[in-house]
Amino acid sequence: MSIADNLKQYKSEVESDGVKLIAVSKTQTNEAILEAYNAGQRIFGENHVQELVDKHAELPNDIEWHMIGHLQTNKVKYIAPFVSLIHGVDSLKLLQEINKQAAKNKRIIDCLIQVYIAEEDTKFGLGFDEVIELLRSEEYESLNNIRIVGLMAIATNTKNEKQITIEFKELQVLFDGIKASFFPNDENFKEISTGMSADYKLAIEEGSTMVRIGSGIFGKRVIKHFKANITAN
Ligand SMILES: *Cc1c(COP(=O)(O)O)cnc(C)c1O
Repeated sequence: MSIADNLKQYKSEVESDGVKLIAVSKTQTNEAILEAYNAGQRIFGENHVQELVDKHAELPNDIEWHMIGHLQTNKVKYIAPFVSLIHGVDSLKLLQEINKQAAKNKRIIDCLIQVYIAEEDTKFGLGFDEVIELLRSEEYESLNNIRIVGLMAIATNTKNEKQITIEFKELQVLFDGIKASFFPNDENFKEISTGMSADYKLAIEEGSTMVRIGSGIFGKRVIKHFKANITAN
């Protein structure tokens, strides 16, 4: 199936559940992204700052760009002028820098707090207690140019669906608690960004409002130097 066909299928499937589709275009060419764009997709996710900046400059300007990867504080300034949503906020320091750069650009930048739910220790994110600590801090209170609109998480990379389901359920419980404690009257705090190509169905069953699909739409990611080797043969 073509990128356009894949895109349309995912889009109609997830949107019929009221869920937003983020097309994860990291490592994909502009041509591939345009194919998805021309099939109706407007939200794309990238995980490297340089790649995100380049693609933003080269592709249509009605694309909503989401930063889904780990973001270093010293790189926030490059994406602050245009980024629509930052998924992976996992420290107060990063949030303060986003706030500072957003203010410089006279913007309010939407952010998701990344929560650690997986069993692996290679994943970024805050523990449940740390999320609460951050939201209780005076420093957070004073930030006027960021808006926390929900939580983001990556489940354990496993075929064990029971385990993945438990992780998503725990995230939903945390979300409900945080909503009640910190955002009871804030209708903007409503997003749960979980679910990738392998686990998006489970994620949606467990309350995800945004799924991040890469390989399911664009096919397997090709690592560039491998490609160079193949054409050299
Ligand atoms: C790459 C990536 C995805 C998409 O993964 P696929 O398995 O290709 O769908 C989703 N979320 C994050 C944070 C990613 O880095």
